[in-house]
Amino acid sequence: MGFRIGFGVDFHQLAEGRDLMLGGVQVPHTKGAVGHSDADVLLHAICDALLGAACLGDIGVHFPDTDMQYKNIDSKKLLQHTIELIKKEGYTVINIDSTLCLQVPKIKPFIAQMQQTIAAIIGVTERDISIKATTTERMGFVGREEGLVAYATVLLAPIP
Ligand SMILES: [Zn+2]
Repeated sequence: MGFRIGFGVDFHQLAEGRDLMLGGVQVPHTKGAVGHSDADVLLHAICDALLGAACLGDIGVHFPDTDMQYKNIDSKKLLQHTIELIKKEGYTVINIDSTLCLQVPKIKPFIAQMQQTIAAIIGVTERDISIKATTTERMGFVGREEGLVAYATVLLAPIP
């Protein structure tokens, strides 16, 4: 008993002249996500889900976008810090399930690398990090390639 579920969602605009970082992996594309950090929408959704599961607020509370120390920061560092907070609360990660919503590019070739990257930071196996992807069938801001969205759920258990 004592399991905790968490949910996270994140949105970013897409623009030319930015790198597209997804799940800690640079994905080649003509556009990248806009943000104060490296704008990794998947890692941000995962951080929010982890913080939510531990009832620790959201990513904006811990890493404010007004703080210059987070300017262009690698979001893998934010995930690392978030995991430390979760451990300090006495929890460990059981698994994560996530979905990326973007029209282009196809991210299937990069999913295994994202799973490895995230699993290594969190200290779980790749099978504990599920990453799915979908388009919105060209509907809305995602379909117009103006932005992208990520959703994540996590399950935490108390450290024995
Ligand atoms: Zn974000």
